[in-house]
Amino acid sequence: MHTLALAGTIIIAATLTTLYAAELTQPTLPPAVSQTPAPAAEVNDSFRVAGRQQAGHAPSPARLTSIVTWLTTNFDLAPSDALPEVKLAPAWLITARRNRDVLATQGQPSATDSGRETVAVYDTTERTIYLPEDWRGESPAEISILVHEMVHHLQTLAGTRFECPQAREQLAYAAQQRWLELFGRNLEEDFQLDPFTLLVTTRCMF
Ligand SMILES: [Zn+2]
Repeated sequence: MHTLALAGTIIIAATLTTLYAAELTQPTLPPAVSQTPAPAAEVNDSFRVAGRQQAGHAPSPARLTSIVTWLTTNFDLAPSDALPEVKLAPAWLITARRNRDVLATQGQPSATDSGRETVAVYDTTERTIYLPEDWRGESPAEISILVHEMVHHLQTLAGTRFECPQAREQLAYAAQQRWLELFGRNLEEDFQLDPFTLLVTTRCMF
């Protein structure tokens, strides 16, 4: 079992460059699809394809594994073969999961989150990522949401403890930003997450 897992990891690592080359050369989006996020929407969780609702589909285990490999290669995160469950869910359910998770992990809502829409969430209790129901993983912005939530999954598996709720977001946004940069994009452009908002979202402030 270990050998199999290790062999799998080696194969994944060996083909990583090819995988990302494939990601990079894929047409990222049909030109007709707008990537304009909703104004004042929540940061990581603000992805919206304006004006259209397509049936989405959850990412494959292979895609999740490649993200784990990329994250653990580039960031201080322990690798794990335990993939999260990923579900597509309507906005109300994602908000409900997020509120439950905030209460479970932080004890109280974070002031910096108020007024923002939650579009994706990692439920630490269920070890499940909830993505918007129209998520298709076709654009760097969409995949970056998954990258962000995968950081939370690896943090949870590692049992990492944080000084404050915002500290948990630091690495998640750093990874998301690095991912977007691979495609010449960034959090500000795709998620209207300006440097100040990013600062208050990722720093402990008492
Ligand atoms: Zn987060």
